[in-house]
Amino acid sequence: MYASDASPKQVDLIQKLRLERGLPQTELAIDLTKREASAMIETLLRTPKPEPVGARPAWDAHMALLVNVPDGRYAVPSAEVDKYDFYRLRTWRGKRFFDRVVGSGYGNGFNRASTTRQQKLSVAEAIAGDPYKFAKLFADKLGICARCLANLTDPVSTARGIGPECVKYWRPLHPGL
Ligand SMILES: [Zn+2]
Repeated sequence: MYASDASPKQVDLIQKLRLERGLPQTELAIDLTKREASAMIETLLRTPKPEPVGARPAWDAHMALLVNVPDGRYAVPSAEVDKYDFYRLRTWRGKRFFDRVVGSGYGNGFNRASTTRQQKLSVAEAIAGDPYKFAKLFADKLGICARCLANLTDPVSTARGIGPECVKYWRPLHPGL
């Protein structure tokens, strides 16, 4: 072994980096120099490792958090001060869906809006912590029922944020409503 030869440490590191990146182990050239080895190491370090299986949350991981949350609309504070993002949780043909929505809030004015899996997950986490708080926030912002979007007229419903029909879906969670 010459002074310019790759060190055993470098060789081990190359094999380790290859393994982490899913590359096959190779016989390294016997005359691999220190300089060549460090160039290889640099290249390997720039090569992204494959995403380990199961490291990212499943696309619908947020649904597990929302199991006990009633269908309806929820307002959550957005990244901008005094702005809110609206989310819709609904059941359709026995399956539940959770989406960010935008629109005036009246009639069919709500449309699905883009969001990321990570965003859905953190919003679902917040809502699951106190569903009524975010449903009420929605109702307060728009003056409509947080479940069916009907206009709230009587003082009891307005104060509650949920209309007289829809409140039955909330009573299992909040018997006092
Ligand atoms: Zn309603």
